[in-house]
Amino acid sequence: MGEFDLIARYFTRPGRTEGGVVTHGIGDDCAVLTPTPGWQWLVSADMLVEGRHFLSTVAPRRLGHKALAVNLSDLAACGATPRAFFLSLAMPSANEDFLAGFSAGLFELADAHGIVLAGGDTTAGPLNINITVMGEAPPGTALLRSGARAGEDVWVSGTLGDARLALEVFRGSLSLPGEAFEAVRLAMELPQPRVALGQALRGIATAAIDVSDGLAGDLGHLLKRSNVGAELHLADLPRSSVLGAMPEAVQQLCLLTGGDDYELVFTAPADARARVLDAGRSTGTPVYRIGRIEEAAGLRVRDGHGRLLDQTLQSFDHFQS
Ligand code: ADP
Ligand code: MG
Repeated sequence: MGEFDLIARYFTRPGRTEGGVVTHGIGDDCAVLTPTPGWQWLVSADMLVEGRHFLSTVAPRRLGHKALAVNLSDLAACGATPRAFFLSLAMPSANEDFLAGFSAGLFELADAHGIVLAGGDTTAGPLNINITVMGEAPPGTALLRSGARAGEDVWVSGTLGDARLALEVFRGSLSLPGEAFEAVRLAMELPQPRVALGQALRGIATAAIDVSDGLAGDLGHLLKRSNVGAELHLADLPRSSVLGAMPEAVQQLCLLTGGDDYELVFTAPADARARVLDAGRSTGTPVYRIGRIEEAAGLRVRDGHGRLLDQTLQSFDHFQS
């Protein structure tokens, strides 16, 4: 199968390559996009490399989902409404089983969020998936990392740490009974980006980031950009019953440095608590208050006895592990 047949068969959907802001989609040298009058573009790109961002054991359908999910998560963190995306794909060969599964998972999630595949590039090479997403927001409403102020609350959506727990089982450093493993494996392979929550937090949250490399590291980025610090209590961090049944040290590792969570961590003034809870309720997203922003730089985490945890809380660094 040639490059053009492949694009036509797996990535072009009659009647669905145009819509919303996408005036002309796949098939021309450029896509033509018509923005919502007065709104701003929010654009992000994320690359997935086999062995680094996903394991060769993942089902193609889940991989298609995850490749788009991690990108939608960046739009969610900024409060953007998803509009269009571009897919650049390198593959060793045109394996039809892979392409059918991958595109099915990709489009299922795309349709759920009303985002249109408007173009891309396809080439032979080691498996590598690069997606660029484009979203929109009314002027000045994008959530940034830089708006947190001392005295504000720190919030997180969903639960943390399950994806890391699954990774440790794959690595053989932990084991879990079958059912528990399947549950955390879902968190790792089928993350659900918090797109609706992000949009609902426009005008409420003062700063936000999505947790892709672990809470400590990602919250750390937000704190740095905002020129503030924060204090959290380990006991307040939301976790699944599977993670909650693990030894304390494992919980701590997964909660703080886990990675691949794709939850939102955000800040808001204390007088906005009711509005934050409303945003969670109206979008069906659990949200939890986990700490407070302070003037002193850095992240301080207290254990169940109120003691400060060691400062070796490190973000998962792709070049160090
Ligand atoms: P060019 O050679 O001009 O860069 P291509 O021949 O690579 O264009 O692509 C033809 C059309 O197919 C373009 O509209 C491009 O955006 C689209 N396309 C190519 N690969 C993909 C893909 N993986 N997913 C979606 N659209 C794609
Ligand atoms: Mg090309």
